Amino acid sequence: MKTNRTVDHLVIGLGGLGSGAAYWLARLGQEAGRDDVIVGLEQFELGHDKGASHDHSRIIRYSYHTTEYVRLASEAYETWDAVSSEAGEELVVRTGGIDLFPNNSAIPIIGYTKSLDEVGVAYEVLDASETMRRYPQFKLKSDVVVLSQADTGIAPAIKGTSAHHRLAARRGVELYAGVAVEKIISDGAGDLTVVTSDCVYRTGSVIMCADGWSNELLKDLDVQIPLEVTREQVVYYPTPDTDLKSFSIGSFPVWIWMDNPSFYGFPVYGDLAAVKAAEDVGGQPTTARTRSFATDDAALQRLTDFLGQTLPAMVGTTAPRVKTCLYTLTRDRDFVLDTVPGHPGLQVGLGSAHGFKFASWFGRSLAERALTGTTRSAIHPFRFDRPAITDQDFVPNYMT
Ligand SMILES: Cc1cc2nc3c(=O)[nH]c(=O)nc-3n(C[C@H](O)[C@H](O)[C@H](O)COP(=O)(O)OP(=O)(O)OC[C@H]3O[C@@H](n4cnc5c(N)ncnc54)[C@H](O)[C@@H]3O)c2cc1C
Repeated sequence: MKTNRTVDHLVIGLGGLGSGAAYWLARLGQEAGRDDVIVGLEQFELGHDKGASHDHSRIIRYSYHTTEYVRLASEAYETWDAVSSEAGEELVVRTGGIDLFPNNSAIPIIGYTKSLDEVGVAYEVLDASETMRRYPQFKLKSDVVVLSQADTGIAPAIKGTSAHHRLAARRGVELYAGVAVEKIISDGAGDLTVVTSDCVYRTGSVIMCADGWSNELLKDLDVQIPLEVTREQVVYYPTPDTDLKSFSIGSFPVWIWMDNPSFYGFPVYGDLAAVKAAEDVGGQPTTARTRSFATDDAALQRLTDFLGQTLPAMVGTTAPRVKTCLYTLTRDRDFVLDTVPGHPGLQVGLGSAHGFKFASWFGRSLAERALTGTTRSAIHPFRFDRPAITDQDFVPNYMT
């Protein structure tokens, strides 16, 4: 027999984004003198590795290709700093970062420098020789131009997500792991019903942050977001001890190779015996429900060949360790942060495979909208009624 409950807010999915929403709903509600009943539901165990928010590190940066993202990046740092101070732990590690643009790169530097200039974020443009003087680990052709920004760093995915869980629970949010949402029912006028195996929840406010599983939950409402789910992999190269120090924070930056294929990497962090690197959008299409955890050998070879050219000391003789993870991509690679058209009270938050740095910001913005109907942030680019979602002929572009 299913129980029936009426709650003020229900969050579906407790990865980086959903856990952020659970935390900020409680915090902002309590700061406004409210005592809302907030429930968070997660189909797997908290902190699991089947979605997109596990592993030690994610890149956080101001350097983005539009002024909107650069401005939001400052809110991303701000929201993580707010959570850090309440959690009493460091949830953003500033390491310095370089974006490398080879000649005629698929991702032009102008979008980045123009956006940083407009917002007034300091950065440097370096040539290849100056970059190699600062970071001798790199072997670069002379035509590579580099954007260096001091605030780029690491947003620890596991730590940040579990800090959201811990603080949300401490503020009275009911978090249930191992509870899958089977169905969302909407009367189209703000009355929402969420059905699980043992409970039927009635509420006027649902925040869905289900990433790769989003369309599974939206299909009963005849809503589908054009999304591609890919199985991505990150690789830990067990660099010889002799070189490990030179890849540590302070000696080595977060880096992104801004071309197609695009690669990125980190200084040593979390896994202290290896250096992490990966390819952006190098994975095979899959679904969140049927994905495998197998290594893509061709992708691994592509990355290792690139590193052999560009960061040769990183590639030792010991076999690297591979972890897989899911990307869920909108066709313009922009986020979704909006109310589902025709279903007031039902919000979707989706990070389009670059959302972890913004996870706490997503949480705050979704919570503000649930509590007050609006948010302080500029979210217009992330609405449902945009060509990448509504135009069937929209051509996907993930290289931004
Ligand atoms: C390899 C890799 C590298 C990345 N690098 C970066 C980076 O450097 N910087 C950056 O900012 N971002 C990066 N990202 C993207 C970022 O990690 C994601 O955008 C972000 O983690 C998405 O968080 P989420 O909470 O939306 O998704 P998830 O963590 O996948 O959470 C969704 C949750 O919903 C739950 N769920 C789904 N359906 C149901 C249901 N029916 N009932 C109950 N629960 C349900 C799932 O179990 C899951 O826990 C990277 C992603 C990957 C995979």
